[in-house]
Order: sequence, then C-alpha cells, then structure tokens
Amino acid sequence: MTDKQYDILIVGASLVGASLACAVAGDPSCAGLRIGIVEPEQAPQRFSGEDFDPRVVALTRQSQRFLENLGVWSAITRQRLCPYTHMFVWDGEGTASIEFNSRDLREENLGHIVENSVVLSALLEHLTIYPNVEILRGRRIEQVYNGFAQSGNRRTTLVLDDDENIETTLVLAADGGNSKVRELLAMKTREWDYGQDAIVTTVRSERPHGFTAWQRFTHTGPLAFLPLATEDGDLHFSSIVWSVDRELSPELMALDDESFARRLGATFEHKLGDITRVASRYSFPLRQRHALDYVQPGFALVGDAAHTIHPLAGQGVNLGLADAQALAAELARAMRRRIPLSDYSVLQRYARSRKGTNLGMMAVMEGFKRLFGSRSPELQVIRNMGMRQMDGLPMVKNLLARQAMGLR
Ligand SMILES: Cc1cc2nc3c(=O)[nH]c(=O)nc-3n(C[C@H](O)[C@H](O)[C@H](O)COP(=O)(O)OP(=O)(O)OC[C@H]3O[C@@H](n4cnc5c(N)ncnc54)[C@H](O)[C@@H]3O)c2cc1C
Repeated sequence: MTDKQYDILIVGASLVGASLACAVAGDPSCAGLRIGIVEPEQAPQRFSGEDFDPRVVALTRQSQRFLENLGVWSAITRQRLCPYTHMFVWDGEGTASIEFNSRDLREENLGHIVENSVVLSALLEHLTIYPNVEILRGRRIEQVYNGFAQSGNRRTTLVLDDDENIETTLVLAADGGNSKVRELLAMKTREWDYGQDAIVTTVRSERPHGFTAWQRFTHTGPLAFLPLATEDGDLHFSSIVWSVDRELSPELMALDDESFARRLGATFEHKLGDITRVASRYSFPLRQRHALDYVQPGFALVGDAAHTIHPLAGQGVNLGLADAQALAAELARAMRRRIPLSDYSVLQRYARSRKGTNLGMMAVMEGFKRLFGSRSPELQVIRNMGMRQMDGLPMVKNLLARQAMGLR
C-alpha cells in the first residue's frame, strides 16, 4: 500500500538536498509539483558566541550567487559568516609560497567561510514558504522498488525505516558519500582510499587571522586554517581541517587539548602565534569517489552521492551546489517544454553538464595531493620552483584565483 505520493522525492536534506529543493520549488515552472524530502537527522543545531559548528564550508562567489538567487543569502548574513580577502599557501617541506589577494583581483573578497549549520538552517527556513514541499524527518530510505526496471510503469516505490511507502516519478539522491540509494540501485563507482583522515575542529589563536585562509602542505597531508568571526567581531577563531596519514591520526586524536594545540601550532609554523584553545575534535576517513553514471531512468545522484573529493581545496559543497543548480535548471526546462520528468533525456542533460567539471576538479585535487604528498627530492624541487614562478606571474595567478572562486 502506498502511504504518500510525490512527483519528486529528494533523499537527504543536507546542503545539497535542501538547496536543490529550494531551487526546484522556487522556479515558477515547477510550482505545481509535489516535492517530498526524506532526512534521518533532526533540524540542525544552532551555534553562537565562541561555540562554532565543527563543519564549515568555503563558499565560492558562484555558490554565493546561487544562494542569492534562491533568496537565502540574506538569512545567512543575518546569522554569521567570515569573508576571506587573502589566501596564503606554502610548502612545509620547502621555502616556496603563493599568495592570493582580493585587492589584486579588484574583488571585495575571495569567498566566505560559513558554518554548515548556518547555510542549512537558512535553506530549511526558506523551504517553509513552499506549501508543495514536505520534509519527512527522522526517517531514512531502506528499500527501493524501481518501477522503471521492474515493471516499466515509470513509478518508483521507496520504503522508509518505519515501513511507510512512498511513490514517486523521480528520485533525486542527495544522501551523501555513502549513498543508500546508489547502493540499492547498484550504481557503480570508481573509488579509492586516500589513506588519510581529516581532523576537524575550531581553534582560538593568539593573534587574529586577518581574514586569511591558510594552507600548509606537508608530506603527511595538508593543514588548513579557515577564518571565522563571532557575532561581535572576534577574529581569533579558525576552523581547521588537518588531513593526516591514517597511522598518525589516532595519535593526534588521543592527545589532550594542550598537547594537541602545541603540535598543531608547530605544524602551522605559529603563523598566528600560539593556539590558545581547541574545541572538540572529529576525524573523518578521506575517500575519493566518483559514480560512473550520475543518472538512470527515474534517478539522479547529486553532491557527494555522485562525487566525493579531498577537502584540501574546500570544493566539495561548491561542486554539490553547482550540481543542484544544474539539475533544477534541467527540470524547470523540461516542465516549460512539457517534457515528462520521467523522460531519461532530462536527466542525461544534467549528467552531461556536470560530469566533466566535477571530474576536472577531482583530477586537480588528486594532482595536488600527489605532488605535495611526495617526499621525492626531485618533486620537492619542482613544486617549489612551480609555486615561486606562479607567485611571480600575476596574470596566471589571478586567472587561477578567478577559476577557484567560480568567476570564470
Ligand atoms: C573533514 C571534511 C571537511 C570538509 N570541508 C569542506 C569545505 O571546506 N568546503 C567544501 O565545499 N566541502 C568540504 N567538505 C566536503 C563537504 O562536507 C561535502 O561535499 C558536503 O557535505 C556534501 O553535501 P551533501 O549534501 O551532498 O552530502 P551530506 O552533507 O553528506 O548529506 C547527506 C544527507 O543525506 C542524509 N541521508 C543519509 N542516508 C540517508 C538515507 N538512507 N535516507 C535519507 N537520507 C539519508 C544524511 O542524514 C545527510 O543529511 C569537507 C568534507 C570533510 C569530510
């Protein structure tokens, strides 16, 4: 028996699923569609004062524009975020560095560091204005009966963990790197383990961060300091993502806060003085993953469900938001042209528009990871020469920065 019916079912209401729902629901051509979203987690926790969400995102200008168009950017700025105007990247094993500055690009900033919970709560609040969107919270997808493959009836039934059945024409899976939908459909991925964990936490430093995003490459993995701001403008807090070889990760996680702060400060070459406070630490295994196909009749993968990349350039969410934007645009186009949403060509257009860009970014991340992860003296010389030369070529450097900001 079917308990609920939707035209579109979005699986996962994290940043990608929720932004996709806003983009589809907000397009006038999709106004008549009934949209369901299934999400196991309850509403995101709110952080304030010196308490920060351990997960943050470096939003590019392209992502900012998308969120502006959705009508949620102002709700994000009303909470809190921190622009970064400088980026300083250096090779911990050599002497070379490269610096980016928004002034050289005649831009106000290079992007913003925003807590995931800030973006998510703004998206979820915005969704409440659409009466045709329903979020089923505290439940997860357990089973999929693929009507396209089994009976050719072009309807899919999904079973939730409380045995409720949902029938829909189109399933959009935004259920993250370990996507249950992808697994149930046996959609193949190409993936490998980086052999690294990312340790994530918030720290307070002796000196203010100066609106700078810092990245130090070491042979055991990159360390990033991303600037944060409290509501009353305290600029001594940074979110850190410290990617380390898996053998080293348990040792760093087991240290008491004081010893961890000392070790972190030394690895960061004390660029901001001593680390004076460390919040709770979390560790995530890092895997590269790419679905061979993003779509099949009646189903599309978006965000981390389709691709998971190394966090060294903070591009994961930005790629996922671009997927959401592209997919919503294709669905709206189909609605305007009266093409049924179940028409496979609609989903294929989405996959074609995103796969090349996502693969390109993954290849660049992989290249960086290998180049900077190597202890080979030859590679060390090459990367130091490359960095120094690049830093001395403002035109090339600015082109690269504009691309990273999503401005080209
Ligand atoms: C340590 C670390 C640091 C990172 N830093 C950055 C950064 O600075 N910038 C950046 O852009 N990216 C960063 N990333 C990557 C970024 O976190 C991901 O790209 C992003 O969270 C992907 O969003 P998503 O919505 O696709 O998936 P997720 O955020 O994983 O969300 C998936 C959602 O699906 C739900 N779900 C799961 N299973 C089911 C089910 N069976 N049924 C229904 N719902 C389900 C989950 O509850 C969740 O809400 C980082 C990643 C890591 C690991």
